[in-house]
Amino acid sequence: ASEQSEPVKTICPYCGVGCGIKVQQGDQPGDVRFMPWGEAPVNEGRICIKGGAATEVVDHEDRLTEPLIREGDEFREASWEEAYDRITEEMERISEAYQPDAMGFFGSSKVMNEENYLLQKLARRYGTNNIDNCTRMCHASTVWALRTSLGAGAMTNSMRDLREEADLLWIQGANPGEQHPIANSQYFRQAVLEGATVIQVDPHANKTTRSFEIEDTDRHQHLQLNPGTDIPLLNIVLTTILEKHEDDPDAGWIDEEFIAERTEGFDDLKETLAEFDKEEAAEQCGIPLEEIERAAEKYAKADNAAIFTGMGMSQHACGVDNVQNEINLALITGNLGRAGTGVNPLRGQNNVQGTCDVGAMPNVLPGYQLVDDDEARESVEDVWGFEIPPEPGLTNVEISNAAGSSIHGLYIMGENPVMSEPDANEVRERFEELEFMVVQDIFMTETAEFADVILPATTWAERSGTVTNTDRRVQRMRGVDKVHENTKHDLEILMEIGSRLFDEETFRFEDVEAVFEELRQVCPSYYGMTYELLGEEGLHWPCYEIGDEGDPFLYEDSFDTENGLGQIEGVVHQPPAEVPDDEYPLTLTTARLEEHYNTGTMSRRSPTLNRQHPENFVDVHPNDAERYGIEDGEYVTLKSRRGEITLKAQVTTDIKEGSVWTTPHFAEASANVLTNNVLDERAKIPEYKTAAAEIDVGIEP
Ligand code: SF4
Repeated sequence: ASEQSEPVKTICPYCGVGCGIKVQQGDQPGDVRFMPWGEAPVNEGRICIKGGAATEVVDHEDRLTEPLIREGDEFREASWEEAYDRITEEMERISEAYQPDAMGFFGSSKVMNEENYLLQKLARRYGTNNIDNCTRMCHASTVWALRTSLGAGAMTNSMRDLREEADLLWIQGANPGEQHPIANSQYFRQAVLEGATVIQVDPHANKTTRSFEIEDTDRHQHLQLNPGTDIPLLNIVLTTILEKHEDDPDAGWIDEEFIAERTEGFDDLKETLAEFDKEEAAEQCGIPLEEIERAAEKYAKADNAAIFTGMGMSQHACGVDNVQNEINLALITGNLGRAGTGVNPLRGQNNVQGTCDVGAMPNVLPGYQLVDDDEARESVEDVWGFEIPPEPGLTNVEISNAAGSSIHGLYIMGENPVMSEPDANEVRERFEELEFMVVQDIFMTETAEFADVILPATTWAERSGTVTNTDRRVQRMRGVDKVHENTKHDLEILMEIGSRLFDEETFRFEDVEAVFEELRQVCPSYYGMTYELLGEEGLHWPCYEIGDEGDPFLYEDSFDTENGLGQIEGVVHQPPAEVPDDEYPLTLTTARLEEHYNTGTMSRRSPTLNRQHPENFVDVHPNDAERYGIEDGEYVTLKSRRGEITLKAQVTTDIKEGSVWTTPHFAEASANVLTNNVLDERAKIPEYKTAAAEIDVGIEP
């Protein structure tokens, strides 16, 4: 390439907003520069701090550049040939010695649709549905509730229609000000500046809270609830709406026509709430009842009210019920199936939506077709030419929990479970027990340290393919030259392993577009898309036929449930699995920072981002700080029943008294050493958002 070569148009590798950026290839392979893309469909050239710094890690000195094979406690360089031989031999051995279900496969929400598609195809050809990705850790419960009660596990609306039509934004357990900065500034805040009301429900005040501080305080409420009390809070809202409707049926508190024609289960909700005690619930939430009632009135009386839901809702042992209660609220008020309404999960990673869409999950094939649905499975088998195991596989936390017992081998593409899963010390111990692990990644990670073979992959900027953003927009990424000769694209690696283990016909593709062409055939909601039609604007799914424009909002006429009706289901409060006691008297809650990205593999190597937050910290309320004798900036030990970390205390009213807040980004002091490995029964998402904790003071840094 020369310095004059045209910059390529691609998509930011960080969050799920899907901002378009350009990458300019300089005269050397590693000379890769960020450029704004003024007409990019989602962000129109605007960018947050992460997007602007994204190219910083492409030519980082820590890049893996050669395949590595473990020898004792060390790794030595190896040829690709030797690495491939080792992987295929071990995978064959594990299948023969145990069974295919003794392997687990981790796809990645940071990796493109085509690559995740091929990995799940490889897992299923191998003979197991033990394939999952890190959506399990962020929105598995949201996807479960939305899919079961409405039809599709995705945002019901799109950022654009929400900006233009929403009169009220109900943001619960989500922090778009930090986690989706361009969506927040360019869409949601814009709606508020033009008159919409915003109600934020979160135990922690953050940049979202501050971004909505407007002069008209009646249009901005922050309900700072105790962690883990979202069901009581929403039940107060629902009960208030039902009571008011009973007092004055014509005042428009609920949408009777919508309930009658488009939903079922309303009586179940009324029964569940018949004996509900609002005073007691408000006490559990730690918020004056009138404040919640005021918020309920605003939601019910808005013409178009939109719910935004995040990991503060999903990462609980009651995650499915949390989101179901949001769906209940939207359904009884008729806030679905129209522009500016809906229940909208804000997705964390740039391809977390797509990774699920293409079937990198243990219970669904591409397009969310259930793996245990014979008809769906056979339709995919017709295209693939082999039999798919009919029973759902294990989720990623279940795979980690079974490492060393029923799971003996792991194939990990671009994930870092040692850092991202709860109770990290335990995960390390289990991974020690594995017989074989292969990791393909761009850097040495805390997980790769346990691998037997490490394959050096290329970064986002060097590859082409598609990603699907938070509002279901499928967009193309385009790559520049490889920085390191001997690295390989994830797709190339998977094609090689699949061809060697099985056959060329099933796993060899001419290029990435050919993989997308096959994906379309087995994924009905992507069938109407081609690379040419995606062009520069992309298309929202569902897009069933060539020529479909894609839907900015879902369910205009009916829901995608079996009988077409939205499912209402009353839910009751379930306290977190671990609540404060004498030994661990504080409630620990966790969340992420704007400047860092999940396990920090990329963002901590980015000088611009790391400068903002070079180390972890814990937010402590001033009254708790006084009780413990903690000075602002002092190092403390934060501990739970599972481990302890040392970090700086930040004394602030951002967190409620009795709770503490910290982050998972920093390997040397990660929140996940402390978090509780207890799962939502149905969605198997861990309870990252609440655990019992204690603080020790007088610690040297
Ligand atoms: Fe990237 Fe998200 Fe920032 Fe956009 S908002 S630039 S997609 S991190």
